[in-house]
Amino acid sequence: MKEVLLLKCGEIVLKGLNRKRFEDRLIANLKRRVKLVADCRIELQQSIIYVWIPEDADGDAVLEAVRRVFGIATICRAAVCGKTLEEMQSTAETYLADRIVNATRFKVETKRGDKKFPLTSIQVSQMLGGNLADKYTQLVPDMHTPELTIHFEIRTDHAFVHAGPEPGAGGMPVGANGRAAFLLSGGIDSPVAGYMMAKRGLELVGVHFFSYPYTSERAKEKVVELAKLLTRYTGRMTLLIVPFTKIQEEIRDKCHEELFTLVMRRFMMRIAEKLAEGYDCGGLVTGESLGQVASQTMPAMAVTGAVCELPVFRPCIGMDKEEIVQIARKIGTFDTSILPYEDCCTVFTPKHPNTRPKMAKILEAEEHLDIDALVDEAVAGVERMIL
Ligand code: ATP
Ligand code: MG
Repeated sequence: MKEVLLLKCGEIVLKGLNRKRFEDRLIANLKRRVKLVADCRIELQQSIIYVWIPEDADGDAVLEAVRRVFGIATICRAAVCGKTLEEMQSTAETYLADRIVNATRFKVETKRGDKKFPLTSIQVSQMLGGNLADKYTQLVPDMHTPELTIHFEIRTDHAFVHAGPEPGAGGMPVGANGRAAFLLSGGIDSPVAGYMMAKRGLELVGVHFFSYPYTSERAKEKVVELAKLLTRYTGRMTLLIVPFTKIQEEIRDKCHEELFTLVMRRFMMRIAEKLAEGYDCGGLVTGESLGQVASQTMPAMAVTGAVCELPVFRPCIGMDKEEIVQIARKIGTFDTSILPYEDCCTVFTPKHPNTRPKMAKILEAEEHLDIDALVDEAVAGVERMIL
């Protein structure tokens, strides 16, 4: 049976003159993602996006891919048929066979997009609902609490039959709100942060700080795997691996232990901002959550945020760990995040980190370091991957 996905756009419909730009971006994203599983024609007509599933394609795989594309509010998986009552009814009987025999309370809802169709939507619902109730005697019409709603949509060229919409991924199309550098560690929080900002329409350029041999190749592979898992939502992602060993050793050798983490985090932010410039990114994304660790107190974040001019987005800032974990599980990054490989933040960690740092002390500590040279060297040594 020929199938189609009918998609409704989410918030992008609110965007006035920008709407066209948002829709174009959404369609481009959809095409790129769906192409990986099937060769579908995708088109927009009167605010509905049609994803035509070829008969030999794997409809489940197409649906699965579309479910992860941001910017879509609802998805209806529908059968396509001719615009006669007979065809619409027989299509419903075949396409929704399981649901029809398993339901008792049901109703029929009809949308008549084609105003030339000779019957009104109410007439169609009454006739087809009546026929079905006659034929399947357990079915009882129930307008208020139906277990099954059979939808008929009559459009210009075809009619569609489905059992109602499911929610799409929501948010805005990736890229519609620009691009940001995304600090991705191997932990639980940063993949969730990336997911959340991609959902708000940011394209992400991943940045990972790597301290070989203090952190192992396996730790790096874990981060690459996390980034790959995220591409199911973000689409293609550039991942930049920054050599961080020399900077960490310099800090270890030259700074007081209790300042170590903050000085290091300021380097991360400086380098990320420098990379952001080269990749035309308008902001930074981190997985910080207020008070979660010593470097995430408000004074600590003031100190680390002070080195960059770009806005820093921290979508996990107001979330409890448990809430972050829930999202990590939902998006499928949790199991990889908890693999026990070290992160550069956990090498040389001070026993007594400073939770109320004084900017003056940090600046004084940094005087012993050749910041510009270290940043430039790290940037020059970046390894780039396209995932
Ligand atoms: P996560 O679970 O994301 O690792 P965390 O709670 O372990 O977070 P920190 O280690 O303090 O927190 O790191 C805070 C944020 O700094 C991370 O969410 C991430 O955005 C960034 N970050 C930390 N380590 C790295 C790294 N090695 N490479 C890139 N970004 C990092
Ligand atoms: Mg971490």
